[in-house]
Amino acid sequence: MTEIHTIRTLLIANRGEIACRIARTARSLGIRTVAVYSEADAAALHVAAADTAYPIGPAPAADSYLRIDHLIEAAKATGADAIHPGYGFLSENPELARACAEADILFIGPDVSAIEAMGSKAAAKDIMAKAGVPLVPGYHGTDQSAQTLENAAVEIGFPVLLKASAGGGGKGMRVVERAEDLADGIAGAKREAAAAFGDDRLLIEKYLTRPRHVEVQVFADRHGNAVHLFERDCSVQRRHQKVVEEAPAPGLDESVRSAMAKAAIDAAKAIDYVGAGTVEFIMDEDGSFYFMEMNTRLQVEHPVTEAITGEDLVAWQIRVAEGGTLPLTQDRISASGHALEVRIYAEDPEREFLPQTGRLSRLTFPEKMDGVRVDSGVAEGDTVSVHYDPMIAKLITHGRDRAEALRRMSRALGNVRIAGLANNVPYLKRVVEHPAFIAGGVDTRFIETYRADLAADETREAGNMPLLAAAALLEARRLDVLRQARLGGDPYSPWAMAYGWRLNDSPLHGLTLQHDAEDLLLLYRLEDGVYVFEQEEKQIRIAVSLHAGGRLEARLDGITVQAEASIEGDVVTVFYDGTAHRYVLKTALASGAEAGEDSGHVAAPMPGKLIAVHVTEGTEVSKGDPLMVLEAMKMEHVIRSPDDGVIAAMHYGAGDQVEEGADLLVFETRAAD
Ligand code: ADP
Repeated sequence: MTEIHTIRTLLIANRGEIACRIARTARSLGIRTVAVYSEADAAALHVAAADTAYPIGPAPAADSYLRIDHLIEAAKATGADAIHPGYGFLSENPELARACAEADILFIGPDVSAIEAMGSKAAAKDIMAKAGVPLVPGYHGTDQSAQTLENAAVEIGFPVLLKASAGGGGKGMRVVERAEDLADGIAGAKREAAAAFGDDRLLIEKYLTRPRHVEVQVFADRHGNAVHLFERDCSVQRRHQKVVEEAPAPGLDESVRSAMAKAAIDAAKAIDYVGAGTVEFIMDEDGSFYFMEMNTRLQVEHPVTEAITGEDLVAWQIRVAEGGTLPLTQDRISASGHALEVRIYAEDPEREFLPQTGRLSRLTFPEKMDGVRVDSGVAEGDTVSVHYDPMIAKLITHGRDRAEALRRMSRALGNVRIAGLANNVPYLKRVVEHPAFIAGGVDTRFIETYRADLAADETREAGNMPLLAAAALLEARRLDVLRQARLGGDPYSPWAMAYGWRLNDSPLHGLTLQHDAEDLLLLYRLEDGVYVFEQEEKQIRIAVSLHAGGRLEARLDGITVQAEASIEGDVVTVFYDGTAHRYVLKTALASGAEAGEDSGHVAAPMPGKLIAVHVTEGTEVSKGDPLMVLEAMKMEHVIRSPDDGVIAAMHYGAGDQVEEGADLLVFETRAAD
């Protein structure tokens, strides 16, 4: 008979969204929760999500979230009788499961033996081969001599994939296309594997050229029951890491679906599995599928399974860990509709998905939309640091069918507001709106295949957005100046009158906005409260009003536009029609000297104080040289030379307060040779 334990206090050995998500279920089950946190996370959301929180060390994960001794100490100190490891960190580390057993703490996961059996990709394959689970043609033997590996690769046939046996997270994989490259490839892969995992053993697989990643959620208890909760398609990946997941897998043949589910249950049974597990398969174009690996934990993408089955997988995990039976038998588990998940990352899709760090100056989600779930572990104002995974949130949508789930996803993404750092929201929106994705044509090469379509396209999305962003920024600064003047108590101060004077003859200003590494120089004047932008032969008139909560209403050449704006220092993000447009004010480049003119006036782009002046009458300057530094709104703006030329006259000096539009100096363009 299996003993029944009743968990009273659960320690969550993780952080971020998954710690918050586990706490939610534990609380709903009446279980007290304990969060652990590093020094960097003292004010993190997951700390507030738990009843008790316990510090476990400095920011680097190796000194905190990966310290088994600290976790056990935290559990003892807080009276926790169970530990949930979440995913990542120590979730697949048999030592944590072992330490829990020794300390008489329930580990929410499978037995040590199952974790160990699946910990090595090569050993796992041995077990699966014996259980009759199909494997990718390949070599996973113990003889690791270069000659044996080379012979094996030749026998498998090119292209082959070299994988670190101890690998994970998409790291340490290498495709070798030709026999000539094999020796180098093997040496390189061994080096990488040794460096990343401290183990240079490799396995070799046939490299499938257009495969899909399809995985099956399995669950087993200590009473001999094992079930599956359908499959998930996680083919859309970058760097062999998932970004979009869905359930069920689109267009999967029913016979393949049931064969895959059976193979997954066989795999779980082969290792006497207990708890939640995922059996990952790689599927060829003809529907043949092969075992890749089994993850002995909850997966990041488990919410799509929850959405279609209506079950809470964390509640299932807790019940099984307590020694209970699975809540449902196979015939009572059903799937309804379709679900999608996207992973929102602080990363820059335009720069090879480079992770970004920084402060989330704006962060809101469309939590209240029908069929939308948001799992997030950060709040507005939090910092995405270098220490942990840069995932900001997961957005999950569910619909009666795939089309409905997709439409909801597209709209939900359009209502995510993130400002402060680059992120993949606009990119994800392009993925889920791509015709090939809509048609269900997913494979692991999706992102590569449609690279050009998925790239941000200035002409497609920008339109008047830079102008709107500039107008919003200028207007926000103007309002700040007015507010300060009012606070200063002098309604007649020139600060309070910075605008609205020059009905005619208002000077032309320039400002440079940076967008996706490109500089946009905008020339504008302020006429009667309206920003008039000069674009080639055209003038575009924008009147903006900024409202509470960032709402931005603009009249753009007579058409009213409703948008939102987030302004943080020199960064302005305009959210319009479901897309975020982010610009950085580079320099306030004042310019009165347009091409063709031989002299002009350089005007102050905003009211402020000149804190440095680099030129005097007669100074020869080149285009872009710094002329003056203006301090405004606690920031420094370098005023640069609009062209090559000479300073003809100076009207202000260092220390002077200047009004917006003040004529700072006269500039003469050097005559062309
Ligand atoms: P990791 O444990 O590092 O995540 P996996 O073995 O799970 O590595 O593989 C990760 C991804 O790499 C898969 O989802 C798939 O996109 C790709 N992949 C793995 N094996 C193959 C293969 N034999 N042929 C083609 N692509 C593969």
